[in-house]
Amino acid sequence: MYDVCIVGSGAGGGMAAYALTKAGANVVVLEAGPSFFASRDSKMLMPAYASPRRGASTKTRPFGEFDACDGGWEIDGEPYTVTSGSKFMWWRARMLGGRTNHWGRISLRFGPRDFQGKTRDGLGDDWPIRYEDVAPYYDRVDRLIGLFGSHENLPNEPNGIFQPPPKPRCYELLVKKASDKLGVTCIPSRLSIITQPLNGRAGCHYCGQCNRGCTVKANFSSPDVLIAPALATKKLTLITNAMAREVTVGKDGLATGVSYVDKKTGTDKHVEARIVVLAASALESSRILLNSKSSLFPQGLANSSGTVGKYLTDTTGTDLAGFIPSMMDHVPHNEDGVGGMHVYMPWWLDNSKLDFPRGYHIEVWGGQYAPSAGFMGGIERYQGGGYGKQLKEDYRRYYGATIGFSGRGEMIPNDASYMEIDPNVVDRWGIPVPRFSWGWTDHEFNQVKHMHETFRALITEMGGQIFSPMPTKEQGYNISTGGQIIHELGGARMGSDPKTSVVNANCQAHDCKNLFIADGAPFVSQADKNPTWTILALSWRTSDFIASQRKEGAI
Ligand SMILES: Cc1cc2nc3c(=O)[nH]c(=O)nc-3n(C[C@H](O)[C@H](O)[C@H](O)COP(=O)(O)OP(=O)(O)OC[C@H]3O[C@@H](n4cnc5c(N)ncnc54)[C@H](O)[C@@H]3O)c2cc1C
Ligand code: SF4
Repeated sequence: MYDVCIVGSGAGGGMAAYALTKAGANVVVLEAGPSFFASRDSKMLMPAYASPRRGASTKTRPFGEFDACDGGWEIDGEPYTVTSGSKFMWWRARMLGGRTNHWGRISLRFGPRDFQGKTRDGLGDDWPIRYEDVAPYYDRVDRLIGLFGSHENLPNEPNGIFQPPPKPRCYELLVKKASDKLGVTCIPSRLSIITQPLNGRAGCHYCGQCNRGCTVKANFSSPDVLIAPALATKKLTLITNAMAREVTVGKDGLATGVSYVDKKTGTDKHVEARIVVLAASALESSRILLNSKSSLFPQGLANSSGTVGKYLTDTTGTDLAGFIPSMMDHVPHNEDGVGGMHVYMPWWLDNSKLDFPRGYHIEVWGGQYAPSAGFMGGIERYQGGGYGKQLKEDYRRYYGATIGFSGRGEMIPNDASYMEIDPNVVDRWGIPVPRFSWGWTDHEFNQVKHMHETFRALITEMGGQIFSPMPTKEQGYNISTGGQIIHELGGARMGSDPKTSVVNANCQAHDCKNLFIADGAPFVSQADKNPTWTILALSWRTSDFIASQRKEGAI
């Protein structure tokens, strides 16, 4: 009998394991994938030519052969379905630390306005908590995990406890110049990469390979930064290759533990625990709840509101790149930097003057990172190419002369975007799989159109040639497919009213007081920010609440 069983070891599960073991609880973590610690297992610094594949992607490593994350859009034996007429993509990690092994490490706090969307413009719903409730936990996450950034005092982009940011690279200076000219706010990025030593971890040495995992632990991944110290308390039992099937409940309606499939033997097992914390990622935790059916909870656990699986959102996204002739024939120099952008553009406009609600931020890419197979997307785009000496010279001339932008914006929850359990399909373990439905609305289409207009203006301002024509309304302005930006949130949203929400403001299930959710499922809304820093802060806040309830003997 454990005090707490946590399902999943990514951002949410890793943080809960850290905070709860430090608070003295005996914790067991069930993790569907194998063990992985970047400090031990990373392919950092391996040259592309060391592999016959030259680093090109594989099915289980769609972001490149040396990428740290095992998983993908399709996992053998673990299907999902999509309703006819909908499109949805579900990225899943299957390893200790989940997606934190290769995430972009863009670490943005939600701002005060992001918790009160409905009050602002009448759309979606407000959160039952405010920025002030989460701020102390953002501070703690900043201090423990660390990030770089700059104090800008912008109204909805709260400052953090930042380490010094790296300087902009050559192409980023050009982007900054164009942004200033067009009145687009462009500031140092905020990434959970430490530029100075912190809590026994070394500062970054700027090899630019963060997605492969960092052997010196200078960037954040859950195994090295959260799971390892939790293990050091001797309070954590880690069970890998354990695929959670359902949360079990007793006659009193309280959670008694979690049943899971031991993937190595294919056998069904069960762990008993006084408290269960689901942190298997927003959609997987929703799936587990819906699959946890019993005579007491025939429509799934914590689902008396019927809202488990509802209010799903993903970040909106679209990209555009251009060829910038002034970046050709550059003086060769090392501009590796951190494995991510050094500048970005937070949302800078007033929606009252626009035809869409909420905002987006812009991510910047370019430069001369170590190339791998398929780099530059084909030299013929640059009027170069050919054979032999000419080809080599063209590569030297054009490499680094591409600059691209990715818009990442806030979607409003809508009734067409939700998941349920497919009544006819099970995975290789016999666990029923999710069926997704998805629909963007004009809120999102108009926002993405605006992204394209901004990107075009920036590339033109830099004297560049835009690679593709303006997408049309019929093409949906090239909006991403639902799930494609891998910021899926919701499915077990928080709220004060048990009739319209799944968990309360402490991420405790309304229907089952010893069940908690510590990933993106409780989010009431997206923001124009990436979600993980908020998942970490809320998971710590929930863990503190659990620790205080244990002390009081309430659960
Ligand atoms: C390429 C990429 C780039 C990204 N960049 C950013 C970024 O820059 N900034 C940002 O904020 N976010 C980013 N994200 C999103 C970020 O990774 C997620 O928001 C974050 O990891 C979510 O944490 P989580 O704990 O909910 O899920 P995960 O990190 O996915 O962890 C879930 C864990 O649960 C395990 N699991 C799943 N199902 C089960 C089960 N049934 N039983 C047992 N275990 C299970 C999984 O194996 C996994 O280890 C990115 C994601 C990707 C893929
Ligand atoms: S760029 Fe820095 S943080 Fe990223 S892998 Fe290299 S040393 Fe580690």
